[in-house]
Amino acid sequence: MLSAVGPPVTVRVPAKINLHLAVGDLRPDGYHDLVTVFQALSITDEVSVTAAVPGVVEPGVAISPIDGVDASEVPADTTNLAWRAVEALARRVDRAPDIRIGLRKAIPVAGGMAGGSADAAGALLATSSLWRLDLARDDLMDVAAEVGSDVAFALHGGTALGTGRGERLVPVLSRHTFHWVVAVADHGLSTPTVFAELDRLRDRPEAPRRVGDVEPVLEALASGEARSLALLLGNDLQAAAVSLDPGLRRTLRAGVDAGALAGVVSGSGPTCVFLCAGQDAAVRVAAELAGAGVCRTVRVAHGPVPGARLTDGGPPS
Ligand code: ATP
Repeated sequence: MLSAVGPPVTVRVPAKINLHLAVGDLRPDGYHDLVTVFQALSITDEVSVTAAVPGVVEPGVAISPIDGVDASEVPADTTNLAWRAVEALARRVDRAPDIRIGLRKAIPVAGGMAGGSADAAGALLATSSLWRLDLARDDLMDVAAEVGSDVAFALHGGTALGTGRGERLVPVLSRHTFHWVVAVADHGLSTPTVFAELDRLRDRPEAPRRVGDVEPVLEALASGEARSLALLLGNDLQAAAVSLDPGLRRTLRAGVDAGALAGVVSGSGPTCVFLCAGQDAAVRVAAELAGAGVCRTVRVAHGPVPGARLTDGGPPS
């Protein structure tokens, strides 16, 4: 760990869900082309960075402290995505990554809500502010895309259409606020394992049906009608997540039985998200779902919310 000097810069950064996630076939380079609609939700991590004196390094500790939900499952070493982001930024501007990072987690770990990517985006914004870098937004987005496919969206926030590996983003008009109930599982699912399971399922004669076109989803978002959007939520990874974790079927059913308009696995899962008719409905659905014993915790959230933001207006002067 690097010993800190000076006050921290703190960034709040949101979790994402995928309202639509179409996964293309496996490419020769091992990736899949995606067409996805992201929405940033009001479940946020906080990332703090402080200038550090180089040289006082505790082996294996790049991040400290790590507090909050699932903190013990978050790597504290240089494999942490927040650390990788600082290294990538340092390389880009040709300086040493003499930064101490602290994390306060609320985004479930390995939950399909891109918590690691969110922390990477937070670390990028916080460090570029601490270092007073005059980087164009596109340059920061570029570094984000280099660190991971969901990192750019965590910087961007709101609602966006993602293509490529999900890193090429176009903002999507989304009228009104949507109200969600988030069912967090008591375990994680590894994203590469879920993609591999989808490839395996697609090799079988009874391959899972693919999600439809994205255009109707974009229209429903523009109309702001939750009921229209509910009919169109879709995720190609859901069949794979359910195949690896059949209990998710019960969770998805329980949310709809509790009164949600629809439910879908978030990204690679196992978190399930339920779209509700309004805030009161979400609170009722959350209470009933919590009593159904199908998940570890239940959260009420809304979206879209902005991407990574400084909590205190900027670096200390
Ligand atoms: P995605 O939806 O982007 O695939 P996820 O939400 O399913 O990701 P993450 O919470 O990002 O999953 O964690 C995936 C793995 O990444 C964890 O098991 C953990 O070992 C590692 N990881 C690295 N950095 C972080 C971080 N800052 N926060 C959480 N996990 C991290």
